[in-house]
Amino acid sequence: TYVVTENCIACKYTDCVEVCPVDCFYEGENTLVIHPDECIDCGVCEPECPAEAISPDTEPDMEKWVEFNRKYAEIW
Ligand code: SF4
Repeated sequence: TYVVTENCIACKYTDCVEVCPVDCFYEGENTLVIHPDECIDCGVCEPECPAEAISPDTEPDMEKWVEFNRKYAEIW
């Protein structure tokens, strides 16, 4: 799965939302989040993010961001 990280805070762009083929972006408290069970790992959103806030969870130390994304995505 891909995850939204701290660079998203207060970002007003929604380029990522527009390109996601499965609409798995949701609104968190002050970031967008990606639902980890709905993301199909296509990677299309990563280069579209002007804040470079989206990363694959295969990068180091991403566990807390996966949990963060899940927590806010599951509210919806
Ligand atoms: Fe959506 Fe693809 Fe990004 Fe996952 S990797 S959030 S499916 S655009």
